[in-house]
Formats: sequence, C-alpha cells, structure tokens
Amino acid sequence: MHQTTGRGLYIHVPFCHQRCHFCAFYLEIHHARAAEEFLGSLLTELRLYGEQRLFGSEPVQSVYFGGGTPTTLSPHQFAAVLSAVRDGFGIQNDAEITVEAHPESVTPDSLSHLHEAGFTRISFGAESMNQTELDRVGRHGSPMSTLEVVAAARDAGFIDLNLDLMYGLPGQTVESWATSLQQMVTLAPTHLSCYALTVEEGTHLRTAIQRGLVPAPDETLQNEMEDLAEVLLSRAGYARYEISNYCRPGYASRHNQLHWTGGEYLGLGPSAQSYVAGRRFGNVSDLAAYNRYLRNGSLPVTESEQLTTAHEACERLVFGLRLTEGIPLRETGAAAFSGLTGKVDELIGDGILERCGERVRLTSTGQRYADTVAVALLTSLETQPA
Ligand code: SF4
Repeated sequence: MHQTTGRGLYIHVPFCHQRCHFCAFYLEIHHARAAEEFLGSLLTELRLYGEQRLFGSEPVQSVYFGGGTPTTLSPHQFAAVLSAVRDGFGIQNDAEITVEAHPESVTPDSLSHLHEAGFTRISFGAESMNQTELDRVGRHGSPMSTLEVVAAARDAGFIDLNLDLMYGLPGQTVESWATSLQQMVTLAPTHLSCYALTVEEGTHLRTAIQRGLVPAPDETLQNEMEDLAEVLLSRAGYARYEISNYCRPGYASRHNQLHWTGGEYLGLGPSAQSYVAGRRFGNVSDLAAYNRYLRNGSLPVTESEQLTTAHEACERLVFGLRLTEGIPLRETGAAAFSGLTGKVDELIGDGILERCGERVRLTSTGQRYADTVAVALLTSLETQPA
C-alpha cells in the first residue's frame, strides 16, 4: 500500500550549551572540536546516502535541522551541510528549509548568514515569557532575548518564523500562561507550537519532582491551558491544524506534515529516526559511536523494522489523527483490516473519534487522549485475523 506524500531530510545536531531540566533528547554539551568531528561524520553520512539514491531523482521538499541546538554550528558549517544536501539529494526550489534555534544562540550577523545560506524558516524555543518559569526548569535565556531575536530574525529576512511554548511548567498559572500567549500574539509569528510539559525518565526535572522540590504537572490545569491556547490563538487568526501546532493561513510546517501524512523522511545525525519505503530505522544515540561508524565508512543505523502492510496502515491512521481535520480512512489503507476498523468504530462509539464526511478525526475530548488512541489502534492489530 506504500504511497508517499513528500520527502524530506531531518538533521539532528546533538549539541547544546547546557541541558534544560525537562529535556530527554540525545545531546552533548557543545565543544568546538566535537562539533568539527561531528560535521565530518555528517558529511560522510550525507555522501553515503546520496550515493544510494534513496529518494531516486526527486529532490527533497523539506530540510529540517533540529537538536539539540543546531545553531551551535557556525554559518560556515551550515553552508557545508546544505551544499552536501544539494549534491546528494537536490532541494526543490520552493523547499522549506528550517533551523531550530535557542534565542540566545544567534546574533543579527549569524541570522543574516543563515538566511543567505538558504534557510527559509526559523524556529525559536521561547518556552515561556515569564522569567521565573524559565528559571524553575533550568532554561537559560529570558523573555527579553525572545523579543529581541524575533526582531533580529525579521531584519535578517525571515518571514516564516515559529515560536515554541510550553504549558504546565512548575508554578505556571492560567494567568501567566495567558500573558505568554498574548505576548506571542503581539510578536505575530507565522507559526506557534504549544507543548504540554511532560516529565521524562532520567531528567533532572523528574528527580526534582520525586524529591518533592518541584510540583508535578497538574493534568486538569494543563487541559485548561490547552483550551485557553486554542481560544486565544484562534481569536488572533491562528488555525490549530494539529494537536500542538497553530499557524497563519499557508504556514503549516511542511516538515511536520511529512510525519503526519505518511511522507518519507531520512534522519541524519546521532539518534535521528527515518521512515523510507515502509521501513523505520534509527541511528545510534551516541556521538562517539556515530563518529566511529562513519569513520569506518558504515551507516550508523542500529535499529530497523520493515512495517507490515497492516502496521503501515495503522501508523498512517495514528499520525493522520493528530491533524485537526483528521484523515480519510480509505487513504490509510486501514479498511482492509477488520481489527483496525472495529477499533475505530468502538472509539467512535466512545466519543473519542468522529466521522466528518470521508474523514475520521479525534473529537475535542479525543484530542486529550491521542497517545492512548494510538496504543489502542496498534494493539488492535494483535487481534487482527490472519
Ligand atoms: S535547548 Fe532544547 S535540546 Fe537543548 S537542552 Fe534545552 S530543550 Fe533540550
């Protein structure tokens, strides 16, 4: 059943200047020499995949640099990577090329270099416009640096600009969340991502909560904040097109949409995940091992799974359900699997899913349980008659 709706690259830059207390991403503290060695490995990885013609002759429609803090790389290093991407894969003329940045990791000069190098979109981790809330989760930076960096990015020529925000932070109130949202609206980015704080295994935040030093996120309060975001942002002209994502008309993230619409993406860099030709595969989550693989001329892939047709249909459904508009059931291929369709009917009966024409989507209640719905649908495959 494999159909694609686009192709893109994800490049994981595994460096930050320090680790935020809530963060569980794979990363290392930035050192210039480690970054230079990583760059050499990344260029080798791009060359090896380029030689495989993994995506045939069709150039990619999106390139996304995530992390970590990609902007720990210098403009010169970014230029080298983009040039290798062009050589190995080709980039469509109107491609979306995004870089994530911590507001304090760029300067007016580096922003100009990024824009000149071909980046069309920049995504800043603002997280909160309240200094105490940032401090409590060990997030360096300040609301002022967010205000300044947005102005500097516009001066450098960036129009498509995302800001990330988090809600449910320790000590955050509905009022302070509303203030952060209002300030975002005043900044008028083209895109906003609002994520509920989650407490991940192995994080400093989890330890602090276990020791009673910081309160655990309150789910009821988070739900209230989520609802408030939808009200305030839709009033300001932003459409909620995915559970956590809002945009001005025409500015939905193409990179994110690849994931939600069954597109193909190749992940490069340590811990990066890929989905190509019905196969999910992932790189080793260790920079030293990643460098070693590539020094020896091998790809650093340590996990790989070819999805069955049923599993692929289920994933398309699960990801498509993250979109506010949902997904036409027939596009997912789920109709061929009675276990899946039975579960969909059951979830409709429970008020978690609903039909809207040909589409099936989460109800407003269901949006709170997207992860549980995903598990229920995947589990239904186990009862699928052979
Ligand atoms: S800046 Fe981002 S990637 Fe780096 S530690 Fe903080 S949350 Fe994690």
